[in-house]
Amino acid sequence: MALLEIDNISVYYGEMCVLRDVSAQIDSGEIICVVGANGAGKSTLINTISGLLKPKTGKILFNGEVISKLEPYQIVEKGVIQVPEGRRLFPNMSVEENLLIGSYTPTSRKKRKENMEKVFTLLPRLAERRKQIARTMSGGEQQMLAIGRALMADPKLLMLDEPSLGLAPKMVSHVLELIQNIAAQGVTILLVEQNVYHALKLCNRGYVLENGSITLMGTAEELLNNPHVKKAYLGL
Ligand code: ATP
Repeated sequence: MALLEIDNISVYYGEMCVLRDVSAQIDSGEIICVVGANGAGKSTLINTISGLLKPKTGKILFNGEVISKLEPYQIVEKGVIQVPEGRRLFPNMSVEENLLIGSYTPTSRKKRKENMEKVFTLLPRLAERRKQIARTMSGGEQQMLAIGRALMADPKLLMLDEPSLGLAPKMVSHVLELIQNIAAQGVTILLVEQNVYHALKLCNRGYVLENGSITLMGTAEELLNNPHVKKAYLGL
């Protein structure tokens, strides 16, 4: 059984269909990417899995249970956690305060101390800066903090919406390495990226989303060698 199963969902903003008959599966332990251009519907997909948007048709299952009718807080409680595009930190709060906010669910609240230590081990830079005000950190550090905050919620499935956006190349490598380290601890990863090359280098399998539909899927290697992907996304 897949950890997450997206079963033929369509999502609308008003009259406008933004995701059409999208299906995808993620198995436990996988790193999956969904790649696509600006406006393809990637953020909409993550927001629908999180319960912020409801599919008009189709359903989403997590661990075999339908979650697409649940409220966002109930989905978070099940361990489906997103790092939103643009990070959405609390700019005037400290690193530590931003992390604590990540663990507001009853289950993760009990493990606050333990999870904070895990985050600081994974991200020693945050430990050094625990009193620093979030808005005074660099873009890369803020992205690390946003990921750290998501880890405080004890994710089983961690969804990252364009974590490399706007970061310097060196920082992009740090973030990708971090995602790999998180996966190595047993967290399943759904990565949504415009940066197709980086995403496919990191993932086991990927889906290509174009104008709200999945047009291609395959192993990372298959997609990296696919003529359409090469031409449209890799500039080759
Ligand atoms: P980007 O990489 O630019 O964030 P994306 O692939 O994540 O793109 P979405 O943000 O999911 O794409 O947007 C998909 C489509 O839905 C776009 O055409 C966008 O303009 C539209 N859209 C997104 N949010 C809304 C909204 N709240 N109301 C109406 N249309 C929206």
